[in-house]
Amino acid sequence: MQPPQTSDLNLSSRILLGPGPSMVAPRVLRALSQPPVGHLDPEFLTIMAEVQELLRFVFQTENELTIPVSGTGSAGMEAALCNFIEPGDRVLVAVNGYFGERLVDMAGRYGAQVDRVDRPWGEVFTPEEIETALGEASYKLLAIVHAETSTGACQPDIEKIAAAAHRHDALLVLDTVTSLGGLPVEIDAWDVDVAYSGTQKAISCPPGLAPLTVGARARDVLANRQTPVANWYLDMTLVTKYWGSERTYHHTAPVNMNYALREALRMVAEEGLEARFARHRQHAETLWVGLEKLGLPPRAPEAYRLPTLTTPQLPEGLNEAAIRKQLLEEFNIEIAGGFGPLAGQIWRIGLMGFSARRENVTLLLAALKELL
Ligand SMILES: *Cc1c(COP(=O)(O)O)cnc(C)c1O
Repeated sequence: MQPPQTSDLNLSSRILLGPGPSMVAPRVLRALSQPPVGHLDPEFLTIMAEVQELLRFVFQTENELTIPVSGTGSAGMEAALCNFIEPGDRVLVAVNGYFGERLVDMAGRYGAQVDRVDRPWGEVFTPEEIETALGEASYKLLAIVHAETSTGACQPDIEKIAAAAHRHDALLVLDTVTSLGGLPVEIDAWDVDVAYSGTQKAISCPPGLAPLTVGARARDVLANRQTPVANWYLDMTLVTKYWGSERTYHHTAPVNMNYALREALRMVAEEGLEARFARHRQHAETLWVGLEKLGLPPRAPEAYRLPTLTTPQLPEGLNEAAIRKQLLEEFNIEIAGGFGPLAGQIWRIGLMGFSARRENVTLLLAALKELL
Protein backbone atom coordinates (compact mmCIF):
# COMPACT_ATOMS: atom_id res chain seq x y z
CA MET A 1 0.00 0.00 0.00
CA GLN A 2 1.23 3.51 -0.87
CA PRO A 3 1.31 6.12 1.92
CA PRO A 4 -1.41 8.75 1.48
CA GLN A 5 -0.36 12.11 0.02
CA THR A 6 -0.63 14.92 2.57
CA SER A 7 0.74 18.42 2.96
CA ASP A 8 2.17 20.30 5.93
CA LEU A 9 -0.36 21.71 8.36
CA ASN A 10 -1.01 25.34 7.60
CA LEU A 11 -4.27 26.25 9.28
CA SER A 12 -5.97 29.60 9.01
CA SER A 13 -6.15 31.21 12.40
CA ARG A 14 -9.87 31.55 12.49
CA ILE A 15 -11.83 34.02 14.52
CA LEU A 16 -13.92 31.51 16.40
CA LEU A 17 -17.29 33.02 17.29
CA GLY A 18 -19.31 29.83 17.25
CA PRO A 19 -20.58 27.62 20.09
CA GLY A 20 -17.08 26.22 20.68
CA PRO A 21 -14.25 25.69 20.40
CA SER A 22 -13.33 29.24 21.31
CA MET A 23 -10.02 30.91 20.52
CA VAL A 24 -7.01 29.95 22.58
CA ALA A 25 -4.51 32.48 23.96
CA PRO A 26 -0.91 32.10 22.73
CA ARG A 27 0.38 31.34 26.24
CA VAL A 28 -2.05 28.41 26.49
CA LEU A 29 -0.83 27.07 23.14
CA ARG A 30 2.76 27.43 24.33
CA ALA A 31 1.92 25.44 27.46
CA LEU A 32 0.27 22.76 25.32
CA SER A 33 3.43 22.34 23.26
CA GLN A 34 5.76 21.67 26.21
CA PRO A 35 7.29 18.18 26.10
CA PRO A 36 5.20 15.46 27.74
CA VAL A 37 6.41 14.06 31.05
CA GLY A 38 5.30 10.80 32.60
CA HIS A 39 1.85 10.78 34.14
CA LEU A 40 3.46 9.95 37.51
CA ASP A 41 6.39 12.36 37.17
CA PRO A 42 6.71 14.50 40.32
CA GLU A 43 6.49 17.60 38.13
CA PHE A 44 3.24 16.38 36.68
CA LEU A 45 1.82 15.55 40.12
CA THR A 46 2.38 19.21 41.04
CA ILE A 47 0.57 20.29 37.87
CA MET A 48 -2.34 17.98 38.72
CA ALA A 49 -2.66 19.50 42.19
CA GLU A 50 -2.63 23.00 40.71
CA VAL A 51 -5.24 22.12 38.10
CA GLN A 52 -7.48 20.80 40.87
CA GLU A 53 -7.02 23.95 42.97
CA LEU A 54 -7.74 26.17 39.98
CA LEU A 55 -10.82 24.13 39.03
CA ARG A 56 -12.16 24.45 42.58
CA PHE A 57 -11.69 28.19 42.22
CA VAL A 58 -13.64 28.49 38.93
CA PHE A 59 -16.37 26.17 40.19
CA GLN A 60 -16.36 28.09 43.54
CA THR A 61 -16.27 24.87 45.51
CA GLU A 62 -14.35 23.11 48.24
CA ASN A 63 -15.22 19.70 46.75
CA GLU A 64 -12.19 17.45 47.02
CA LEU A 65 -13.36 15.37 44.06
CA THR A 66 -12.79 18.07 41.45
CA ILE A 67 -10.83 16.88 38.41
CA PRO A 68 -10.51 17.26 34.67
CA VAL A 69 -12.08 14.14 33.14
CA SER A 70 -10.20 12.91 30.05
CA GLY A 71 -12.42 13.70 27.09
CA THR A 72 -14.55 16.60 25.89
CA GLY A 73 -17.58 18.02 27.67
CA SER A 74 -19.62 14.98 26.68
CA ALA A 75 -17.25 12.78 28.69
CA GLY A 76 -18.00 15.02 31.67
CA MET A 77 -21.70 14.51 30.99
CA GLU A 78 -21.25 10.74 30.87
CA ALA A 79 -19.21 10.80 34.10
CA ALA A 80 -21.83 12.93 35.85
CA LEU A 81 -24.47 10.31 35.04
CA CYS A 82 -22.80 6.90 35.00
CA ASN A 83 -21.26 7.22 38.46
CA PHE A 84 -24.60 7.85 40.15
CA ILE A 85 -27.05 5.81 38.08
CA GLU A 86 -27.68 2.10 38.65
CA PRO A 87 -29.98 0.03 36.45
CA GLY A 88 -33.62 0.74 37.29
CA ASP A 89 -32.94 4.07 39.05
CA ARG A 90 -35.42 6.81 38.29
CA VAL A 91 -33.95 9.94 36.74
CA LEU A 92 -35.64 13.23 35.86
CA VAL A 93 -34.21 15.41 33.09
CA ALA A 94 -35.32 18.97 32.36
CA VAL A 95 -35.32 19.38 28.58
CA ASN A 96 -35.49 22.76 26.84
CA GLY A 97 -32.88 22.24 24.15
CA TYR A 98 -30.49 19.82 22.54
CA PHE A 99 -28.23 19.13 25.51
CA GLY A 100 -31.20 18.22 27.69
CA GLU A 101 -32.13 15.67 25.01
CA ARG A 102 -28.60 14.30 25.14
CA LEU A 103 -28.84 13.88 28.93
CA VAL A 104 -32.04 11.84 28.44
CA ASP A 105 -30.31 9.65 25.86
CA MET A 106 -27.23 9.05 28.02
CA ALA A 107 -29.12 8.38 31.26
CA GLY A 108 -31.24 5.76 29.48
CA ARG A 109 -28.11 3.99 28.25
CA TYR A 110 -27.00 3.48 31.87
CA GLY A 111 -30.26 1.70 32.58
CA ALA A 112 -32.14 4.55 34.23
CA GLN A 113 -35.90 4.85 33.99
CA VAL A 114 -35.88 8.36 32.59
CA ASP A 115 -38.72 10.85 32.93
CA ARG A 116 -38.54 14.25 31.38
CA VAL A 117 -40.04 17.63 32.05
CA ASP A 118 -40.18 19.70 28.88
CA ARG A 119 -40.25 23.33 27.87
CA PRO A 120 -40.09 24.48 24.26
CA TRP A 121 -36.53 25.07 23.00
CA GLY A 122 -35.42 28.53 24.08
CA GLU A 123 -37.55 28.78 27.23
CA VAL A 124 -36.45 28.17 30.83
CA PHE A 125 -38.02 26.43 33.83
CA THR A 126 -39.39 27.89 37.05
CA PRO A 127 -38.29 26.12 40.24
CA GLU A 128 -42.00 25.41 40.92
CA GLU A 129 -42.35 23.52 37.63
CA ILE A 130 -39.33 21.43 38.49
CA GLU A 131 -40.64 20.76 41.99
CA THR A 132 -44.01 19.67 40.56
CA ALA A 133 -42.26 17.37 38.11
CA LEU A 134 -40.28 15.81 40.97
CA GLY A 135 -43.73 14.98 42.40
CA GLU A 136 -44.13 11.86 44.47
CA ALA A 137 -41.74 9.70 42.47
CA SER A 138 -38.47 8.89 44.14
CA TYR A 139 -35.86 10.17 41.75
CA LYS A 140 -32.22 9.39 42.32
CA LEU A 141 -31.12 12.33 40.26
CA LEU A 142 -32.33 15.45 38.50
CA ALA A 143 -30.26 16.74 35.58
CA ILE A 144 -30.53 20.21 34.08
CA VAL A 145 -28.50 22.41 31.75
CA HIS A 146 -27.36 25.81 33.06
CA ALA A 147 -26.44 27.34 29.70
CA GLU A 148 -28.28 25.78 26.73
CA THR A 149 -25.89 26.21 23.82
CA SER A 150 -28.57 25.18 21.32
CA THR A 151 -30.87 28.08 22.26
CA GLY A 152 -28.90 30.81 24.07
CA ALA A 153 -31.03 30.53 27.21
CA CYS A 154 -29.56 30.62 30.72
CA GLN A 155 -31.51 28.62 33.32
CA PRO A 156 -31.99 30.90 36.35
CA ASP A 157 -32.64 29.90 39.98
CA ILE A 158 -30.27 26.95 40.13
CA GLU A 159 -30.10 27.38 43.91
CA LYS A 160 -33.88 26.95 44.23
CA ILE A 161 -33.84 24.01 41.84
CA ALA A 162 -31.11 22.37 43.92
CA ALA A 163 -33.18 22.92 47.08
CA ALA A 164 -36.22 21.34 45.37
CA ALA A 165 -34.14 18.33 44.31
CA HIS A 166 -32.86 17.89 47.86
CA ARG A 167 -36.37 18.11 49.37
CA HIS A 168 -37.11 15.10 47.16
CA ASP A 169 -33.87 13.29 48.07
CA ALA A 170 -32.54 13.61 44.53
CA LEU A 171 -29.06 14.70 43.49
CA LEU A 172 -28.76 17.74 41.24
CA VAL A 173 -26.51 17.27 38.20
CA LEU A 174 -25.74 20.56 36.44
CA ASP A 175 -24.32 21.04 32.93
CA THR A 176 -22.05 24.11 33.06
CA VAL A 177 -20.28 23.57 29.74
CA THR A 178 -21.17 26.97 28.27
CA SER A 179 -21.30 28.87 31.57
CA LEU A 180 -18.14 27.96 33.51
CA GLY A 181 -15.64 30.80 33.19
CA GLY A 182 -18.10 33.10 31.40
CA LEU A 183 -20.83 33.78 33.95
CA PRO A 184 -21.34 33.03 37.63
CA VAL A 185 -21.30 29.34 38.58
CA GLU A 186 -21.41 28.83 42.34
CA ILE A 187 -21.35 25.14 43.10
CA ASP A 188 -21.15 25.38 46.89
CA ALA A 189 -23.37 28.44 47.36
CA TRP A 190 -26.03 26.86 45.13
CA ASP A 191 -25.55 23.43 46.73
CA VAL A 192 -25.13 21.62 43.41
CA ASP A 193 -24.15 17.95 43.87
CA VAL A 194 -22.44 17.24 40.56
CA ALA A 195 -21.36 19.65 37.84
CA TYR A 196 -19.36 19.19 34.67
CA SER A 197 -18.00 21.46 31.99
CA GLY A 198 -15.72 21.48 28.96
CA THR A 199 -12.40 23.19 28.35
CA GLN A 200 -13.09 24.62 24.91
CA LYS A 201 -15.88 27.06 25.65
CA ALA A 202 -15.53 29.94 28.14
CA ILE A 203 -12.31 28.49 29.63
CA SER A 204 -10.67 28.92 26.20
CA CYS A 205 -8.45 25.88 26.18
CA PRO A 206 -8.49 23.41 23.27
CA PRO A 207 -11.15 20.66 23.47
CA GLY A 208 -10.09 17.51 25.30
CA LEU A 209 -10.82 17.75 29.03
CA ALA A 210 -14.03 17.99 31.02
CA PRO A 211 -13.89 19.65 34.46
CA LEU A 212 -16.02 17.68 36.93
CA THR A 213 -16.86 18.37 40.56
CA VAL A 214 -18.68 16.02 42.94
CA GLY A 215 -20.03 17.02 46.36
CA ALA A 216 -20.46 15.01 49.56
CA ARG A 217 -24.04 13.83 48.92
CA ALA A 218 -23.10 12.48 45.52
CA ARG A 219 -19.92 10.87 46.86
CA ASP A 220 -22.07 8.97 49.38
CA VAL A 221 -24.28 7.73 46.57
CA LEU A 222 -21.18 6.61 44.67
CA ALA A 223 -19.71 4.87 47.72
CA ASN A 224 -22.95 2.98 48.38
CA ARG A 225 -23.55 1.58 44.90
CA GLN A 226 -24.72 -2.01 44.65
CA THR A 227 -23.34 -2.48 41.13
CA PRO A 228 -20.06 -1.39 39.52
CA VAL A 229 -20.10 1.81 37.48
CA ALA A 230 -21.12 0.73 33.97
CA ASN A 231 -18.37 2.76 32.29
CA TRP A 232 -14.87 1.61 33.23
CA TYR A 233 -13.03 4.61 31.79
CA LEU A 234 -15.14 7.15 33.67
CA ASP A 235 -15.54 5.20 36.92
CA MET A 236 -14.72 7.78 39.61
CA THR A 237 -14.09 5.06 42.21
CA LEU A 238 -11.07 4.10 40.04
CA VAL A 239 -10.11 7.48 38.58
CA THR A 240 -9.93 9.05 42.06
CA LYS A 241 -7.24 6.54 43.04
CA TYR A 242 -5.01 8.24 40.48
CA TRP A 243 -6.09 11.81 41.29
CA GLY A 244 -6.03 11.05 45.04
CA SER A 245 -3.07 10.19 47.27
CA GLU A 246 -2.64 6.58 46.06
CA ARG A 247 -1.57 7.67 42.55
CA THR A 248 -2.62 4.30 41.18
CA TYR A 249 -2.41 4.08 37.39
CA HIS A 250 -5.85 4.02 35.78
CA HIS A 251 -5.38 5.52 32.31
CA THR A 252 -2.58 7.71 31.02
CA ALA A 253 -3.52 11.29 31.81
CA PRO A 254 -3.52 13.53 28.70
CA VAL A 255 -0.54 15.39 30.15
CA ASN A 256 -0.26 18.15 27.55
CA MET A 257 -3.96 18.96 27.82
CA ASN A 258 -3.44 19.36 31.54
CA TYR A 259 -0.58 21.81 30.91
CA ALA A 260 -2.90 23.79 28.68
CA LEU A 261 -5.82 23.69 31.09
CA ARG A 262 -3.60 24.83 33.93
CA GLU A 263 -2.49 27.81 31.87
CA ALA A 264 -6.03 28.69 30.74
CA LEU A 265 -7.24 28.50 34.35
CA ARG A 266 -4.33 30.66 35.52
CA MET A 267 -5.55 33.26 33.04
CA VAL A 268 -9.04 33.03 34.57
CA ALA A 269 -7.57 33.48 38.05
CA GLU A 270 -5.36 36.42 37.00
CA GLU A 271 -8.27 38.20 35.38
CA GLY A 272 -10.53 37.49 38.37
CA LEU A 273 -13.99 35.97 38.09
CA GLU A 274 -15.94 39.21 38.50
CA ALA A 275 -13.86 41.03 35.89
CA ARG A 276 -14.12 38.08 33.53
CA PHE A 277 -17.90 37.86 33.84
CA ALA A 278 -18.14 41.65 33.35
CA ARG A 279 -16.02 41.41 30.20
CA HIS A 280 -18.25 38.69 28.74
CA ARG A 281 -21.33 40.74 29.58
CA GLN A 282 -19.93 43.98 28.16
CA HIS A 283 -19.00 42.53 24.78
CA ALA A 284 -22.23 40.56 24.57
CA GLU A 285 -24.23 43.74 25.16
CA THR A 286 -22.35 45.49 22.35
CA LEU A 287 -23.13 42.53 20.11
CA TRP A 288 -26.83 42.59 21.04
CA VAL A 289 -27.17 46.30 20.25
CA GLY A 290 -25.37 45.82 16.93
CA LEU A 291 -27.52 42.83 15.96
CA GLU A 292 -30.73 44.73 16.77
CA LYS A 293 -29.57 47.51 14.43
CA LEU A 294 -29.04 44.95 11.68
CA GLY A 295 -32.58 43.61 12.15
CA LEU A 296 -31.35 40.43 13.85
CA PRO A 297 -32.69 40.73 17.41
CA PRO A 298 -31.44 38.15 19.90
CA ARG A 299 -34.11 35.51 20.31
CA ALA A 300 -33.65 34.77 24.02
CA PRO A 301 -35.33 37.40 26.23
CA GLU A 302 -32.77 39.61 27.97
CA ALA A 303 -33.91 38.36 31.39
CA TYR A 304 -32.38 34.96 30.71
CA ARG A 305 -30.07 35.59 27.75
CA LEU A 306 -26.62 34.03 27.86
CA PRO A 307 -23.67 36.40 27.54
CA THR A 308 -21.53 33.55 26.19
CA LEU A 309 -23.86 32.53 23.36
CA THR A 310 -26.19 34.81 21.43
CA THR A 311 -28.91 33.51 19.13
CA PRO A 312 -30.12 36.20 16.71
CA GLN A 313 -33.52 35.61 15.14
CA LEU A 314 -33.08 35.49 11.35
CA PRO A 315 -35.52 37.10 8.95
CA GLU A 316 -37.63 34.73 6.87
CA GLY A 317 -36.08 33.74 3.56
CA LEU A 318 -32.49 34.67 4.49
CA ASN A 319 -29.95 32.29 2.97
CA GLU A 320 -28.21 31.96 6.30
CA ALA A 321 -25.88 29.15 5.28
CA ALA A 322 -24.53 31.23 2.37
CA ILE A 323 -23.78 34.13 4.70
CA ARG A 324 -22.00 31.88 7.17
CA LYS A 325 -19.93 30.51 4.30
CA GLN A 326 -18.98 34.03 3.24
CA LEU A 327 -18.13 34.98 6.82
CA LEU A 328 -15.74 32.06 6.93
CA GLU A 329 -14.23 32.44 3.48
CA GLU A 330 -14.04 36.21 3.21
CA PHE A 331 -13.67 37.29 6.83
CA ASN A 332 -12.17 34.22 8.46
CA ILE A 333 -14.98 34.24 11.05
CA GLU A 334 -16.79 31.13 12.26
CA ILE A 335 -20.32 31.33 13.62
CA ALA A 336 -22.84 28.47 13.71
CA GLY A 337 -26.36 27.85 12.52
CA GLY A 338 -29.27 26.64 14.60
CA PHE A 339 -30.32 23.02 14.68
CA GLY A 340 -33.26 20.86 15.67
CA PRO A 341 -36.46 22.93 15.82
CA LEU A 342 -34.40 26.13 15.47
CA ALA A 343 -32.58 25.13 12.25
CA GLY A 344 -32.63 28.02 9.78
CA GLN A 345 -34.25 30.33 12.35
CA ILE A 346 -31.25 31.45 14.36
CA TRP A 347 -27.50 31.76 14.31
CA ARG A 348 -25.39 30.83 17.29
CA ILE A 349 -22.71 33.40 18.03
CA GLY A 350 -20.30 32.60 20.83
CA LEU A 351 -18.32 35.19 22.76
CA MET A 352 -16.40 32.92 25.06
CA GLY A 353 -13.11 33.35 26.89
CA PHE A 354 -10.35 34.62 24.61
CA SER A 355 -12.89 35.12 21.80
CA ALA A 356 -14.85 37.63 23.92
CA ARG A 357 -13.02 40.74 22.73
CA ARG A 358 -14.23 44.05 21.37
CA GLU A 359 -12.27 43.74 18.11
CA ASN A 360 -14.09 40.50 17.31
CA VAL A 361 -17.51 42.03 17.95
CA THR A 362 -16.66 45.06 15.81
CA LEU A 363 -15.37 42.92 12.96
CA LEU A 364 -18.33 40.54 13.03
CA LEU A 365 -20.87 43.37 13.01
CA ALA A 366 -19.06 45.13 10.16
CA ALA A 367 -18.86 41.91 8.17
CA LEU A 368 -22.54 41.16 8.71
CA LYS A 369 -23.49 44.68 7.68
CA GLU A 370 -21.62 44.23 4.44
CA LEU A 371 -22.97 40.75 3.71
CA LEU A 372 -26.59 41.49 4.54
C1 LIG B 1 -20.65 21.68 24.03
C2 LIG B 1 -21.61 21.21 25.06
C3 LIG B 1 -21.57 19.91 25.58
C4 LIG B 1 -20.68 18.84 25.02
O1 LIG B 1 -19.36 19.19 25.02
P1 LIG B 1 -18.35 18.55 23.93
O2 LIG B 1 -17.07 19.20 24.33
O3 LIG B 1 -18.85 18.96 22.59
O4 LIG B 1 -18.33 17.10 24.11
C5 LIG B 1 -22.43 19.60 26.59
N1 LIG B 1 -23.31 20.49 27.07
C6 LIG B 1 -23.39 21.76 26.60
C7 LIG B 1 -24.38 22.70 27.17
C8 LIG B 1 -22.54 22.15 25.57
O5 LIG B 1 -22.62 23.39 25.09
